[in-house]
Amino acid sequence: MFENARFVIDSREAFEGCVFAALKGERTDGHLYVRQALEKGARLAIVERDVDAPKEKLYFVKDTRLFLQEMAAQKLATYDPRIVGITGSNGKTTAKEMIYHCLGEKLAFRNPGNLNTEIGLPLSILNDYLGQPYAIFEMAMNKLGDIATLCRIARPHVAVLLNVGTAHRGVAGGDEQILRGKLEIVENMREDGTAIVHNDPRILENLKSKRFLTFGLLSGDYKLVWYGYEELSTTAWYETPRGIKKLRFSTIFNVGQLVNAAAVLAVFDVLGLEVDLSKFETFTPVDGRFKVIKVDDVYVVDDTYNASLESFRVAVETIKKLGVRAYAVVGSIKEQGVYSEQTHRLLGKILEQLEGVLVYNIDHEIDAMECSKIILKSDEPKAIVETLKNLLEPKDAVLFKASRAVGMEKVLEMFLGGMKA
Ligand code: ADP
Repeated sequence: MFENARFVIDSREAFEGCVFAALKGERTDGHLYVRQALEKGARLAIVERDVDAPKEKLYFVKDTRLFLQEMAAQKLATYDPRIVGITGSNGKTTAKEMIYHCLGEKLAFRNPGNLNTEIGLPLSILNDYLGQPYAIFEMAMNKLGDIATLCRIARPHVAVLLNVGTAHRGVAGGDEQILRGKLEIVENMREDGTAIVHNDPRILENLKSKRFLTFGLLSGDYKLVWYGYEELSTTAWYETPRGIKKLRFSTIFNVGQLVNAAAVLAVFDVLGLEVDLSKFETFTPVDGRFKVIKVDDVYVVDDTYNASLESFRVAVETIKKLGVRAYAVVGSIKEQGVYSEQTHRLLGKILEQLEGVLVYNIDHEIDAMECSKIILKSDEPKAIVETLKNLLEPKDAVLFKASRAVGMEKVLEMFLGGMKA
């Protein structure tokens, strides 16, 4: 009945022939929109209770969410791909895309970054997985138990834990919860699975699995031992159990991303795949995740997609290596809850290393930040852009970074528009 079906959970996105799955969310209840979905052409609606719609169009289940998850798990069981699960506070999307790029779309499937939750992951498998022999899944957590749920849908043969940082700590309930929640990927991998974890004592002390490899900066089984930049390219050297590997990237990757590439090398070894290392050279960074371009001889870093203390730290370290003088346009780190003040105070310390800081201050969470390098605070993109343009000279570098909700990309777009004009 559901073979080749395409599932939709937002009635506004319903189209001719799709299947609408009515989910009860925190804010609204999909059951209220069944009629609308059917009117837009859905051939069937999966529902938990009766609604005012033609009965022959309704398919009753006990729990829509579980139903989608079980169907996705069944689909994976049918094709039985080798599954790589990736979690961590920073760098999931980039690491996943790197593996996908190196394997290619015939061999590999991956879920998009915004479909990495208990609803998104099953939807992506149901709608788009075509039976490729490798499936690379980014797995995100908001709370304890989330990763375990995702692993029940797609139980990893290879479980990658990139790092345990402070991103979303206000929502996840604190650092201890984040650590325990992320370790679920190792605890819930296949019995004969292998874990690849960041060489961090906090992770290693709590690791229950015996089958694991580590990666890190200057430490671990797979270690980044040297890296350098030239114009818009990066060279990185790794020591691995299979010898020294040199990777070249036609882009600037920050040290965090380069450390994660060590985990990527480990994934290929565990899967027993000989990957042509020149593939890394054609991998292009994901928009908004530390993407570096050069405009008018100035390095411009688009890191507008998200922010955490750890990703700020590596971003600042890298732009300092790039430009003669390094500036940043920054906004708040969101989802920090009770830690918000402390987070922004620490952010101020990280930014002290720069030549100057402009604060795009739309939500005032960042008011707790003290930093002697602040040049301007404004909620007007235009004011920020004009000040920045007066400051910048050839060979400088400028970072644009904030949490997604801040909308920093507006400031960047305005800045780039002006630069090209
Ligand atoms: P995620 O999907 O986990 O949010 P992304 O690939 O979207 O990860 O990258 C998010 C941010 O994390 C980017 O700013 C990137 O530069 C940064 N980042 C990547 N790897 C690391 C790391 N190991 N440590 C700190 N920051 C990192």
